[in-house]
Amino acid sequence: MTAPQPLTAGRVFEAGGRLAAESARFTGFGWMRGTSGNLSEVVTREPLRLAVTASGLDKGELTASDVAVVDPQGDPVAVEGVPPLVPSAEAGLHARVAALTGAGAVVHVHALNAVVAGHRWPGGVLLRDVETLKGIGRLAHDDEVVIPVIRNSQDMAELGDWFEAAYDPRTPAVIVASHGLYAWGSDLKKARHVTECVEWLLSYALAVG
Ligand SMILES: [Zn+2]
Repeated sequence: MTAPQPLTAGRVFEAGGRLAAESARFTGFGWMRGTSGNLSEVVTREPLRLAVTASGLDKGELTASDVAVVDPQGDPVAVEGVPPLVPSAEAGLHARVAALTGAGAVVHVHALNAVVAGHRWPGGVLLRDVETLKGIGRLAHDDEVVIPVIRNSQDMAELGDWFEAAYDPRTPAVIVASHGLYAWGSDLKKARHVTECVEWLLSYALAVG
């Protein structure tokens, strides 16, 4: 048995600060319009706990304390010294992604190109022979990459099941049809890089396809 890792308010707010900075960046790209989108970071692995952006806030104006802590089901977990804000409704899928992939951070944005690409290619977006594939850990030549597309649902358990069925460990992103993009990485900066490269690749696919 691994001893439970201590989770302090300080660690939660440190994560909250990073989530706020990334949210402001993605808002600047137009990928988190209104209050849409949400970001998370794993704060302990055993037991699995995620710091996730709080629900209903402008993602361009978050502060380090606009954060909630959730369990593997996306339900809020009390941490001493952390005011109990409502986590994003999609926190359950973040936790499912982190549990299945081992990612340290998950990004969810309502990037328009992801929604348009999911509409055009509901069976998955095929990419190959383009240099930016290296940015998501794939090869620039002779590597067939499919960004999976799953149906949308308001039920995070159902969405999680569809994600699990579509998941390819080689591909760190999934499109939720008529909704947006999920991408992940070993930490928040890696998840940012994947998100930005995938969005570029989807723009490219739409431009040439
Ligand atoms: Zn969303």
